[in-house]
Amino acid sequence: MLIQTGIPSAEDILTVTPSEERFAKGPVAIAECFQKIPCNPCMMACAKKAIRVEPDINQTPRVDFDVCNGCGVCLTRCPGLAIFIVDKTYSDTEALIKLPFEFLPLPKEGQLACGLNRAGEEMGWFPVVKVIPGSKTNKTCTICLAVPKDLAMEVRNIRAGGYQDGR
Ligand code: SF4
Ligand code: SF4
Repeated sequence: MLIQTGIPSAEDILTVTPSEERFAKGPVAIAECFQKIPCNPCMMACAKKAIRVEPDINQTPRVDFDVCNGCGVCLTRCPGLAIFIVDKTYSDTEALIKLPFEFLPLPKEGQLACGLNRAGEEMGWFPVVKVIPGSKTNKTCTICLAVPKDLAMEVRNIRAGGYQDGR
């Protein structure tokens, strides 16, 4: 399925999803990287060694959810835009998700952005809490989006442009 559509299955996603007990402790990285390719910038970027590509560079990454603190450094280094940070402790009703984003225009903080699922389907309009620009050497931006908690593992992108003024 993934090979034909580029969209991971629900079973694929379950293999990289932390427990609700772990979600309750704060932000955590979700590495939605399912193809065996020679790649490991995520592992090299993590100072805590919480993400590992082992025993060789062709394996898919594994996040140690007990070690990861959700700092988001790996998210900006992944060339596949495959890493997301999910924080279900953001508020009583919303989760904060951090998404890698490489399109222009960028949204502005306080605007609403149209959230998309992994298939590119619209999931609703959600507040942009923060936009973290890329660095000189790595231009991947991070979009911080507040979404209802039940969509924390569904929204994985925003539609570029067409942003609305905030709530
Ligand atoms: S979010 Fe931070 S601590 Fe967690 S795997 Fe990525 S770089 Fe490591
Ligand atoms: S950097 Fe991204 S694409 Fe490469 S192994 Fe890590 S998660 Fe997969």
